[in-house]
Amino acid sequence: MGYKTLHLTLPTDYSDDDIKKIIHSECGDPDFTYQIEKKSLDARHKNSIHWQITVVVFSRHFPGENYEAPQSLTLSCKKRTQKVVVVGSGPAGFFAALVLQLSGFQVTIIERGSEVGERKKAIVNLESTGEFSPQNNYAFGEGGAGTFSDGKLTSRSKHISSERHFILSEYIKAGAPEEIGYMAHPHVGTDNLEKIVVALRMRFLENGGRILFDTRMTGIIKKGSLVQSVLCDSEEIEADYVVIATGHSAYDTYRILMNEGVIFGTKNFAIGHRIEHPQNLINTSQWGRESLPGVKAAEYRLATQSTSGVPVYTFCMCPGGYVVPAAAFEEKSVVNGMSFYLRDNRFANAGCVAGVHPDMLLGHTSGPVEILDWMDTLEEQFYNFSGSLVIPGLRAEDYMKRKNSKPLDPGSYPLGVKPAPLFSMVPEIVSKAIAEGLYDFSRKIKGFETGTLMGLENKTSSPLRVSREKNGKCSGFDNLYFVGEGSGYAGGIISSAADGVKCAMAISSG
Ligand SMILES: Cc1cc2nc3c(=O)[nH]c(=O)nc-3n(C[C@H](O)[C@H](O)[C@H](O)COP(=O)(O)OP(=O)(O)OC[C@H]3O[C@@H](n4cnc5c(N)ncnc54)[C@H](O)[C@@H]3O)c2cc1C
Repeated sequence: MGYKTLHLTLPTDYSDDDIKKIIHSECGDPDFTYQIEKKSLDARHKNSIHWQITVVVFSRHFPGENYEAPQSLTLSCKKRTQKVVVVGSGPAGFFAALVLQLSGFQVTIIERGSEVGERKKAIVNLESTGEFSPQNNYAFGEGGAGTFSDGKLTSRSKHISSERHFILSEYIKAGAPEEIGYMAHPHVGTDNLEKIVVALRMRFLENGGRILFDTRMTGIIKKGSLVQSVLCDSEEIEADYVVIATGHSAYDTYRILMNEGVIFGTKNFAIGHRIEHPQNLINTSQWGRESLPGVKAAEYRLATQSTSGVPVYTFCMCPGGYVVPAAAFEEKSVVNGMSFYLRDNRFANAGCVAGVHPDMLLGHTSGPVEILDWMDTLEEQFYNFSGSLVIPGLRAEDYMKRKNSKPLDPGSYPLGVKPAPLFSMVPEIVSKAIAEGLYDFSRKIKGFETGTLMGLENKTSSPLRVSREKNGKCSGFDNLYFVGEGSGYAGGIISSAADGVKCAMAISSG
């Protein structure tokens, strides 16, 4: 059976029958099969928004070439006796653990939070009462920051195509919709992720893996450059290899590692706020109408450069989503965005941030501890604004003019937003750049200036980068690896997971 690749243009509300009809007329054979390879929305012209779909059609009417499926990973599987401890069950930690397990290692994951069911209870309680759990929140707990997230599975990282293919295939096997394998902007949503995380865990356990929940790494025991075991609150776990995948919210863990001789430097990152609009406003601006059959909700991605040279951009846009309290520690306030698969909430939100280097914020050449201290203080100041997780907010047009807002319309944030001079709560270099950015964004999206800016967004990426070799091994250590977002070499679900996979592949082939 031969195959042919077809590029189709279809209305947004097409059906499978529409695809079949086109294929039938193209190959003249009623007996064909097809698979979608790529699907993206072309919304460049508002009066002709359509899907562009690439399909591979298999039919005996096509020349008999062999179809080459996208490359996945080639794992080096053999029985091994070495023990690996992976610290953190987020995308980086879990996928490193899975690949190590499939390669034959005995793998233990330790996770400071609980399994996802318990974690969810803590998050529901947080959002209904404001009571914060230091163990289970939007940052910590099974699946890491990637679980109660927006669940966008996009990544701009280059050179990870086989890792991405492996990760998306594992997500699909664990219950994710198959479309994530071909959508240009794949999205699973929190509701799917909660189930996927459980299915991945069950398979890992069935294959002999061990997961210790409610178990926090508090230190390491080392002899020279060799780590011998990982210290936890109540036990010591021996290891031949240790993979740290603790994310970029675990400031306490960064400090532990620094004390143990792991070398960190500072790097560019971003701070700012979340901005929220009615989803209808974004749909109308992007599509010229409030709804489009066959498409959930409109997206945007905006970027500009301020006159001071500071880049301003929107980040992690969540169509039909919610602004959520995402701090990792008590008496700190940080916001982020999440959504469910249907993306059907009335609001759209995105980070609206300025790209900065720690030295710009601190006014001198700074070290990793200083920027962690600075971030701790800033998160604390946002908490102290209300003495609770009620967050400060301001209409974007008032932020642009540096004036206070009148009472704000209620948005999606569950614990309340109070008007405040938000521009004075972040360094001036940041607020001035964001104000300029907002002028530019309001020219690109009609009504953008009517949105509400909320809280502190400082988790776009880590301000720290570990000193490590290409395979993730920490400089000065023989068997200690640091992967994922916390390492400063990845950001987002897919690139963090891919970083974990690459490290595991390196360990298993070393
Ligand atoms: C609300 C929200 C929405 C997001 N939406 C998206 C999105 O749509 N798309 C996207 O690509 N990215 C999104 N992100 C970012 C994404 O979740 C992260 O980039 C990704 O999860 C990083 O993966 P990681 O494995 O490196 O770290 P994490 O996911 O942060 O996982 C680290 C894990 O380590 C555990 N841990 C920390 N310290 C210790 C310790 N000392 N001992 C034991 N365990 C420890 C933590 O509990 C956690 O489970 C979102 C983040 C948030 C908070």
